[in-house]
Amino acid sequence: MAGQEQLKSCVIDKNLCSGCGMCVGLCPYIKTFRDRVKVIHPCGQKDGTCYSTCPKTFWDIDGMDDFVFQGPRSDQALGVYKGIFFSRAAGEKAGGAQYGGTATSLMAFALDSGMVEGAVLAGGSALDPRPVYAGTALEVMAGAGSKYTAVPTLAAFNQAVGINGGRLGLVGRPCQVEAVRKMQQGCHSEAHGNRERAVGLTIGLFCFWSLTPEFYDFLAEKTKGEVITRVDIPVEGLTVTTPAGANTWPVDQIRKYIKDSCSACIDCTSEWADISVGSTESDPQYNTLVVRTVAGQRLVERAAEKGVIEIKPYPEERLPILRKAALNKKMRVIQGEGGKMPGYLKLSDQYRAEIIRQWEVLQK
Ligand SMILES: Cc1cc2nc3c(=O)[nH]c(=O)nc-3n(C[C@H](O)[C@H](O)[C@H](O)COP(=O)(O)OP(=O)(O)OC[C@H]3O[C@@H](n4cnc5c(N)ncnc54)[C@H](O)[C@@H]3O)c2cc1C
Repeated sequence: MAGQEQLKSCVIDKNLCSGCGMCVGLCPYIKTFRDRVKVIHPCGQKDGTCYSTCPKTFWDIDGMDDFVFQGPRSDQALGVYKGIFFSRAAGEKAGGAQYGGTATSLMAFALDSGMVEGAVLAGGSALDPRPVYAGTALEVMAGAGSKYTAVPTLAAFNQAVGINGGRLGLVGRPCQVEAVRKMQQGCHSEAHGNRERAVGLTIGLFCFWSLTPEFYDFLAEKTKGEVITRVDIPVEGLTVTTPAGANTWPVDQIRKYIKDSCSACIDCTSEWADISVGSTESDPQYNTLVVRTVAGQRLVERAAEKGVIEIKPYPEERLPILRKAALNKKMRVIQGEGGKMPGYLKLSDQYRAEIIRQWEVLQK
């Protein structure tokens, strides 16, 4: 049994909190302030949903593969998937879409086709992003575009559960998909009712790290009050677009803002989502689309048939590059600080040995 006290001492005080927002809104005593999660008053409960659904209290890779996919993974780097594609919005593309607009188009289609009744995502602007509940495709479109801080989207999920009585969609970072999967496993106390069936679709983003709120100050200083229309972090560096044009700064200038919790995360492709969406790293008009579950596959097939998205084969030569990036992230966590892996991670000796073996093969 563990609750708020352990959440605070094991996760928040150790800077392991990813700002997913799952504990916010479950409890009147946990709030966010500029994306940071704070306990504002002890609740005194010995057993708490805030602890049990937190993705950083306990994470069992094999157990979660079994729960979501009913079986083990064959690809240790990328997780379980049915197919990988390049994709983009083929119908109406959201004005602020980050790349191909796949994430927005698929969630808007899921709403229009009745797969979900509403969606939670990260709306607002680059300097003021916030969790948003979207009840229409237009509201989903308004949330397009990447905000590189840790928007606690799941706080909106907790408020939206029960609205219209239907199932919700989530667009979120890997840690947010993980929190939802823990909730679906029934990791909540009786006080928070039966929420396992509250989620109809998870669209997970690729994410190697997100940034602390100090990044807002950096952005504000660099853009001097201009309206920010786009932020991107390609290999060339942090690129910020305003009506006056685009400016790029070396990534090294923002590394100090990377959240500590991201260094303890092994999942950069949202391995437990129905569908994962990332950049292609080669063509900004397209996305990399990873289809993982049967529900995800059905949605993508129907969206392609209806002309909502366009998909094409993933270039064979890019797969080793994507796998290497994912293995690299896992290796850094597995080797950890002084060879010590973060305590919340449970992975089998077999899984660990396989990651190391595959990484060593790539180094030859
Ligand atoms: C913090 C962060 C780091 C990322 N790092 C990488 C990376 O290293 N490599 C890579 O290939 N891709 C990365 N991505 C994903 C990439 O930026 C795009 O979100 C993804 O490719 C989908 O593109 P799209 O054109 O379909 O997006 P869109 O159609 O514009 O949809 C983007 C969706 O993401 C939601 N969103 C935006 N910001 C956040 C946030 N902070 N938290 C939760 N949801 C959010 C929006 O509400 C929207 O629904 C990252 C995204 C984020 C938020």
